[in-house]
Amino acid sequence: MAIEFSERIRRIPVYPAAGGYAQREPLVRLASNESPFAPLPAVRAAIDAELSSLNRYPDPSNSLLRRRLSERYEVPSARIAIGNGSCDILLAAGEALLEPGAELIYAWPSFSIYPHLAAASGARAVTVALDGEHRHDLEAMLSEITVATRLVLVCNPNNPTSTAVALADIAGFLAEVPDHVCVILDEAYCEFNLLEDPDASIDLLDSHPNLVLLRTFSKVHGLCGLRVGFALCGSEALPRALDQVRQPFFCNALAQAAATEALAHQDAVIDRVTRTVAERISMDERLRALGLQVAESQANFCWVGLGSERDESEIMRGLQERGVLVRAGGALGSDTPALRVTYGLPEENGRFLDALAELLAPARSPR
Ligand SMILES: *Cc1c(COP(=O)(O)O)cnc(C)c1O
Repeated sequence: MAIEFSERIRRIPVYPAAGGYAQREPLVRLASNESPFAPLPAVRAAIDAELSSLNRYPDPSNSLLRRRLSERYEVPSARIAIGNGSCDILLAAGEALLEPGAELIYAWPSFSIYPHLAAASGARAVTVALDGEHRHDLEAMLSEITVATRLVLVCNPNNPTSTAVALADIAGFLAEVPDHVCVILDEAYCEFNLLEDPDASIDLLDSHPNLVLLRTFSKVHGLCGLRVGFALCGSEALPRALDQVRQPFFCNALAQAAATEALAHQDAVIDRVTRTVAERISMDERLRALGLQVAESQANFCWVGLGSERDESEIMRGLQERGVLVRAGGALGSDTPALRVTYGLPEENGRFLDALAELLAPARSPR
């Protein structure tokens, strides 16, 4: 007889993992919104320095990293949570806040981890469609709040559609959300958002103890291989609850050292954002010149509508044959053919665009 799994395991969807990891030949990897830039020399040195003490457990309270984050963002240490990637914080928040009978609200399509929160806890997920411009519809999300709502997730800029809503709209939304509802503003890509100063949302924490700003070292800092993220919280209650549901030592020593060092290099953050935004402008322009619909990106990736007559999986296959990995929109919740493409280095983006232009050419030529 086969082993019998829990009801919970049967509910939890399998995360749509990106492929290509087993491939040896050089690939153009534009599928996971990673940074194309290698870790900074100073960050590598900080990791190196930590290697000789790996026989010791890491600091379970992440005190140095939390102190540096507290200095950088002017949020008290006790209101900062660390995670083994920010997904770890999301899943722990789900565990701490949700249970059968409770509800959570999020937009769709949005980050592919969000459906796990309901499945893992038995809470009810209420999904709210994005508007015609692939943006969060905050009004519609507000109208779904009930006495059973425990958590609202707002992904800004939104993965996979790359769009951002204005901070003024988020402030207006927060003013209407009842105090018992936790709002997680997932800001994994906030540094790439040119609509606002990435630090502006932090002021909202003072007036909203139910607010959590979720951030990560995976994207602009380029440390996704180490897994470290953090949350800036409106109250001390959430970090405490998160620590109750997780194993001790959830953030490893190399990740703590690297993240602490990375914070000291804000000039590198600005440089990376500048280079990524330059690619964003030129790539979006070339995609639109191919006749494709491109959402207004405020992130390090774009959301490309292929047109309803095109076959998304055929284009994915064609790109893969040409050594280019991107994400299929269908796997990320799109009901029309679409691609999510990370902005890479100029030569990588060029390879993607050339491959795509070649694949689209037959459809555009007259019969
Ligand atoms: C990439 C991403 C994260 C970060 O995940 P980590 O676990 O920190 O690597 C969080 N939220 C969204 C929306 C993302 O796209």
